[in-house]
Parts: sequence; C-alpha cells; structure tokens
Amino acid sequence: MKKVAVAVIFLFLINLSAAGTAIGAKEPELAKGSVFIDNQPTKTEYLLQDGHLLVPALFFKHTGVLVDESNKYHSIIFRSGNVKFAIPIGKSYADHYVGTKAWKRSNLSTKTIEKNGKVFVPLVDVGKKLDMEVTYNSKTSQTFVTTNIPKPPKGISKGSSDKKLVALTFDDGPDDYFTPKILDILKKKDVKATFFVMGKHVTEFPDMMKRIVKEGHAIGNHTQNHPLLPNKMSADVYQEIASTQTALEKTVGLKPDIFRPPYGAITKTDAWILHKMGLRAITWSVDSEDWEGKTAEEIVTTVNREISPGGIILQHNFPSKDRQILAGSVKSLPDIIDDLREKGYQFVTVQTLLDQG
Ligand SMILES: [Zn+2]
Repeated sequence: MKKVAVAVIFLFLINLSAAGTAIGAKEPELAKGSVFIDNQPTKTEYLLQDGHLLVPALFFKHTGVLVDESNKYHSIIFRSGNVKFAIPIGKSYADHYVGTKAWKRSNLSTKTIEKNGKVFVPLVDVGKKLDMEVTYNSKTSQTFVTTNIPKPPKGISKGSSDKKLVALTFDDGPDDYFTPKILDILKKKDVKATFFVMGKHVTEFPDMMKRIVKEGHAIGNHTQNHPLLPNKMSADVYQEIASTQTALEKTVGLKPDIFRPPYGAITKTDAWILHKMGLRAITWSVDSEDWEGKTAEEIVTTVNREISPGGIILQHNFPSKDRQILAGSVKSLPDIIDDLREKGYQFVTVQTLLDQG
C-alpha cells in the first residue's frame, strides 16, 4: 500500500512540474488582429506557438468552409467541396477522408490547442489542406488567405429606393404581452408587417403565432435560440434554422423564405447554409434600438431621421418579465406609421419590398 501511494505521489509531482514548466515557459498569449480573406479584413483572435500562427477553428467559417466538431473523436472536422479532414484536439496531425471509410494521416507543423473554450489550429497548414493560398507580407505584417470558394448571395438590408416603400419588422417573438399590443395597432392602422420569430417562442406561444399569420403579416426565421452564428459549428447553425422551420410548419403550416441572423452576424459559411436551405438573409437599414428600453419619442425621432425609400425598420417583441422594456416601442408604433405615411411612404412586408424592388 505504502509503495503505491509513494509511486502515485511521485508521478503526480513529475507531471505537475513538467506541466508547470511547459506552461510557464511556453504558454502562448492570446492576441487580436485581422487576417485578410479574399482581401476582406476579418478580425480574429490568434496566438503564436513554435513560430506558427494559430486561429480558432471557427475562423475558417469566414472562408466558406464547413467547420464541425466530433465529440466522439475529440476532433474538429473541416469540409470544403470534396476535401474532408479531421484534426484531433491537442495533436499535430490531420486525418484525411479518402473515401469509403478510409483515412490518410498527414502532419501539422504544430499541435492544435484548446484555450478559453476554443480550439486553435495552425492557419497555414489548415488553409493549404483546404486548397487556399496563405501568404504573409513581412513589410506590413499582414496575413492573406485566398480561397477558391464562390461568394454566397449578399445579405439584404434595404429594398429598392425607386418607390417609397417601407417594411416594419419585429424580431425575437412571439410573446403573449407585447405581440398582441403590436398586432392591435397594426390592425387598427391597416399595416402588414414582418415578424422574424424564434423557434422556441413559436412553440411556447403557438396561438400568438397563429394570430400573426391570420392577420396577414409575413414571417421570417430568426433561429431557434438566438445564438451568435459565427460562434456556432456548421451543424448547429443548420439545426438552429431547420428546427425553426419545422416549428413554423407545425404551428402555422408555413415555411418562410427569409431569415434574419441574430445580431445581424453571419459568416460566409452560414450564408451558404442559408442559401442551400432556400432562405435569404435580411438585416435592416433603420435600427430603432427599441430593446434598450428607449422612450417612444426617442424611437420616433430615430426612425424619422434614418428612414429612406426601401427602408427596413428593426423593432422587437420578445417575452420579458420587464413590462417596461418594450413599452416605448409599442407606444411609438402609431406615430411611426402616421409620420411615415404623411411623408408618402407605403407599408409593405419584407417579401413585397424585395419583389417590387
Ligand atoms: Zn434578435
């Protein structure tokens, strides 16, 4: 017994001191900078290890590559066209899929590491494996990645400016407190708006969802749980969108063809996923900033100042225990409608705005 205990302590000390030395001497520091992807500066965290630049695996979603994780094999999987390979976390090799359950191993210049919950991979090695060109300009200290991946359709923030059309949009609902108030006003003013709804709220408030559709408003997909898409693996992004489509189809028998990314944040890979699912990415041209608890006067002023023909106005209708949070937003609605009509604007849904543009 005694011998075992000593041996265990001894091993423990060895491991601890070895790990301590390694961390103390070599632990790379996280930094922030920009890498140019097809000449577009893209902000990223990075770190240097053994002279190699490592970026978060999810950085590659800005290049249009599918990035996923395998919990079973504790690895990150990259896919682009016919190329597919897995990089185990903490290792310095990649396993390439070469067809019918066969894999071929290749070495990386340095090992992948996990830091702050993110997996960092060597930029040059992974880029090359994905048929990208990675170059470094030592004079300007800039790194360039050139991909052969085509650009997905661009997100839309506005309709055509030819006609004085405008679309009111409400995000994050439905709920059972703010949504009925908004619907009452829209009905009274005979305005059709567009609701970008969250799958989990569709399931939670099905009657309100039905009322939105019954009263002639348009709907769009706003994910199941409202994540920041750039921080999500490709399969999770797909799941967030698909489960909301399913919730809508079940509840109101409709599958929207428009999508609004939470926080307006979307990578090239996310945009491709959307496009392949038959959805268009819609952002906005006027942010009412109503979710911050602004007064009706502040919101009306912002909208009047920033509106232009083809405008898409962003407002909200999320469930909240704080009954005041969107009180200003609801109160501003009749004035926004009256003011813009006075200026000659006509209210339409996002779909109509785009079709007529
Ligand atoms: Zn939102």
